[in-house]
Amino acid sequence: MSESDSSNTILLKDCSFVVTQNPNRDVLKDVSILIEGGKITKIFRTSTPTQNVERVVDCRGKIVMPALINAHTHAAMTLLRGYNDDAELHSWLQSVWKVEAKLTGKDVEIGTLLACLEMLKTGTCCFVDMYFFMDCAARAVEKSGMKALLGHGMLDFGDESKREEELKETKRFIKFVEELGNPRIRAVVAPHAIYTCSPELLVEAKKVSEKRGLLYTIHLSETRKEVHDCYRERGKYPVEYLDELGVIDDRFVGFHAAWMTRKEISLLASRKATVVNCPASNMKLATGGAFPFREYTDAGVNCCLGTDGACSNNSLNMLEEIKFAALLQKWFRWNAQEMVAQQALDMATINAAEAFKLNNGSVEVGKVADVVVLDASSCFLLPHHSIVSNIVYASSHLAVEHVIIDGVVVIENGRHAWLDEEKIKDDFLKTAERLVSEVKEEGEE
Ligand SMILES: [Zn+2]
Repeated sequence: MSESDSSNTILLKDCSFVVTQNPNRDVLKDVSILIEGGKITKIFRTSTPTQNVERVVDCRGKIVMPALINAHTHAAMTLLRGYNDDAELHSWLQSVWKVEAKLTGKDVEIGTLLACLEMLKTGTCCFVDMYFFMDCAARAVEKSGMKALLGHGMLDFGDESKREEELKETKRFIKFVEELGNPRIRAVVAPHAIYTCSPELLVEAKKVSEKRGLLYTIHLSETRKEVHDCYRERGKYPVEYLDELGVIDDRFVGFHAAWMTRKEISLLASRKATVVNCPASNMKLATGGAFPFREYTDAGVNCCLGTDGACSNNSLNMLEEIKFAALLQKWFRWNAQEMVAQQALDMATINAAEAFKLNNGSVEVGKVADVVVLDASSCFLLPHHSIVSNIVYASSHLAVEHVIIDGVVVIENGRHAWLDEEKIKDDFLKTAERLVSEVKEEGEE
């Protein structure tokens, strides 16, 4: 099967459970879902006779839910998975940068394609990415059938000529995405962080985001060190600093956003900014504390969820991430009622859909048909007292049967519908091994 001959009309027939993520968060039983032209056009009782459709997917004994949205990744870093693990953040970054210096555009395409495969097979339809050689990343996304918001990660360390280069590359990439004309791929503006970007770069990046109407994404207050450094240098905290530069508004997306003062949280709320929780990465790199979810929620800040790159997590599995997110909050607050299962699922679906204006994230008439079909009879999903709890606390990628994106079946019975998975894995392994051996040889010289 190829992407082009996918059916336009799909009937998900007799779904045992539908986790709608609608405003009431209804879980429907025994309904069918009609998908036409990439959208959900009808949800009806199974007693209604089957319409004339091109494709019928038998969903008896299945759970249908919105496909997940990974709000922060560096997809091509799959190539570095397991490389120099269990190291302190600073020394880990140094070793990663050595390997990254060897990366070519082709490597990024190969790394991103494997990342797409991993995300698809674990129920994710869309991701927000920051890296380099982003046209190559875009090519991988195109092949995979996924959706992505891609940004060239900019850093200038205060160097003016580097700043010009980075801005030029961002503008070039935005033009590349426009010319690509693939509605599944969007560009974002992506300055790396306040400790790698000069204020001039942060402001210039904002101008680009304004002019093109694009999101402004940045790593924000991931560690105490960067927060303290900022306060020592400038006498203000990172959000206050960025707000004075005028970059925070409803297009602003802060990754990690873990170390915050109450004043910063109310600033983010008043600007209608979005924050992205990355619990597994934060725990693995021992950044300490926990994302202040309760404070964000009380202030009305929209919270999404991301895995971060595959070498700080080390997986891109959002079904795992929802569990980590909820457990970390409960553990940190000594309170079992912190981040209930429904809130964790919201971050990975409807909250992200709203933040990134994707018109998906729920199973409702009029929404884009980005859905996952899970096997409800998997032993780890039994019994069915609470489907949402099961998904958050007990699920596994092993239950993922189909992933449908824009009404196209991309994952079918756990396999990619048109890609040669073995070839992708083979190319990927060769590339990962070559990169590490190049760095090793250099060290021996
Ligand atoms: Zn990151």
